[in-house]
Amino acid sequence: MKLDGKVALVTGAASGIGHGIAKRFVEAGGRVTIADLKADVSAQAARELGDKKTAIGVGMDVSKEDEVNAGVEQTVKAFGRIDILVSNAGIQIVHPIEDFPFAEWKKMLAIHLDGAFLTTKACVKHFYPQKSGVFLYMGSVHSHEASPLKAAYVTAKHGLLGLSRVMAKEGAAHGVRANLICPGFVKTPLVEKQIPEQAKELGISEERVVKEIMLAETVDKEFTTVDDVADVALFLAAFKTNALTGQSLIVSHGWFME
Ligand code: NAD
Repeated sequence: MKLDGKVALVTGAASGIGHGIAKRFVEAGGRVTIADLKADVSAQAARELGDKKTAIGVGMDVSKEDEVNAGVEQTVKAFGRIDILVSNAGIQIVHPIEDFPFAEWKKMLAIHLDGAFLTTKACVKHFYPQKSGVFLYMGSVHSHEASPLKAAYVTAKHGLLGLSRVMAKEGAAHGVRANLICPGFVKTPLVEKQIPEQAKELGISEERVVKEIMLAETVDKEFTTVDDVADVALFLAAFKTNALTGQSLIVSHGWFME
């Protein structure tokens, strides 16, 4: 699978899954914008992938419309076009519903859902006139399945399934495709942070959180890897027809089967 100079903006790409996807896109001949909260951290992450003709970094809080619009425009200015959006930035906050602070609920929905909406809207402006474009949204097994303590995350990830399907339908007339990638647990900083938090909330050991909650239903008791997810993202980004649009691809070592 080759990207042949195609330009991707990947949000939340200074770390974890987003960074892995950006790296894989560059290896496949693509050019990338790393969009993450801090401009200097994004720039450093971009330098790890190549020179300025291949990768740039921008500071972008995906929940802020002006920052999103500016980051998309910086991408077009640097590379002359934009072809792929990977809406990936995300955080995790876990609480039982009765203790879930409203401000934290709103923060979760703002990053996952407002972020996907705003980046989509900013890219559509470029995708529609050029009659091509790819939206990849970072969902989760939690776009299809629920877990205790994750009311905001599960709600947001289910919401992305809806947005992705709408974009597949609205985008089709403009040559635009949209798909959702749904990973199982990947050992990134986001998950490393959850293990002790869940152990505390549930009153069990960290080892039991991993074995009995995170990996219990996988077929091989393995974490999904950043490489697993990056391979799927490249496959969907480079796929040439509408045969794959409006789909949700679960990448979870068999944890969840549709
Ligand atoms: P991560 O913490 O390693 O990376 C997330 C990145 O998003 C960080 O660099 C962070 O700075 C950035 N970010 C946070 N808020 C932002 C904002 N408002 N604007 C821009 N950037 C912001 O986490 P990860 O595990 O790589 O997660 C990436 C995505 O994958 C998330 O959407 C997450 O929900 C999803 N996901 C992760 C897993 C997993 O097990 N790790 C599983 C399924 C889905």
